[in-house]
Amino acid sequence: MTKKLLVIANWKMNPDSPGRAVRLAKEVEKGLRGVKNVSVVIAPPYPFLESAGRALKRAKLGAQDLFWQNVGPYTGEVSWRQLKHLKVKYVILGHSERRIHLGETDQVINKKIKAAIKAGFIPVLAVGEQKRMSNKKMHRALLRQLSGDLAGVSARAFRKGVIAYEPVWAIGTGLSATPRHAKKALGMIKEILAGLWKTKKVSTPVLYGGSVKAGNAAAFVSTKGGAMQGMLVGGASLKPKEFIGIVRNSSSINVK
Ligand code: PEP
Repeated sequence: MTKKLLVIANWKMNPDSPGRAVRLAKEVEKGLRGVKNVSVVIAPPYPFLESAGRALKRAKLGAQDLFWQNVGPYTGEVSWRQLKHLKVKYVILGHSERRIHLGETDQVINKKIKAAIKAGFIPVLAVGEQKRMSNKKMHRALLRQLSGDLAGVSARAFRKGVIAYEPVWAIGTGLSATPRHAKKALGMIKEILAGLWKTKKVSTPVLYGGSVKAGNAAAFVSTKGGAMQGMLVGGASLKPKEFIGIVRNSSSINVK
């Protein structure tokens, strides 16, 4: 049986105008015609969720964050309940840029994961080591993040959830990890989740993120390469041709 891959576009704090956001969403939509075995999610910044979301038909809409309270005195925050009024289906949480620049801790991310699940969104939890390190240290870093971010979250509660493995050293640097490295992380993540959830079989999809381009995408999802279940794409998702290339090149790969 062939499983559908998941490719998520994280637009981050781009583009700089609603007109550009809608144009980008439309171009991506057009490029998705005829794509069958890849699900695509577009995560624009908050101000463009509604307008870009309106332009999407084949692609689903994602948010880049949420706040765990539903309403109230939380200046600058956007709650899960507010997002429920839009077409948002997926929510990226724990992205390294939020951990680094906004000081998001695993406890904060944990609250967000729980709120996202309660609200019926599909959480996309981003984890990854800060710099290149030994296998032992990398395992420890992933264990710390996953056990903190998913504390009190059962396998059943996270059954629709997704993990995005994003080594921080590969994000936005143009220096992606090798598919072999991604596969190693995939094994570690599955083993950690199996331990946390006390189960032998973990079916949570694990995506790779970090300088993915049209030229290297297929290697991350092929069973002989990284064997990942999809990708989280930052910079390249702002270039329609490149992003469509990522989707189309990975859609030609059969994933078991
Ligand atoms: C990201 O920010 O999630 C990401 C993977 O960025 P980039 O593709 O630009 O490395």
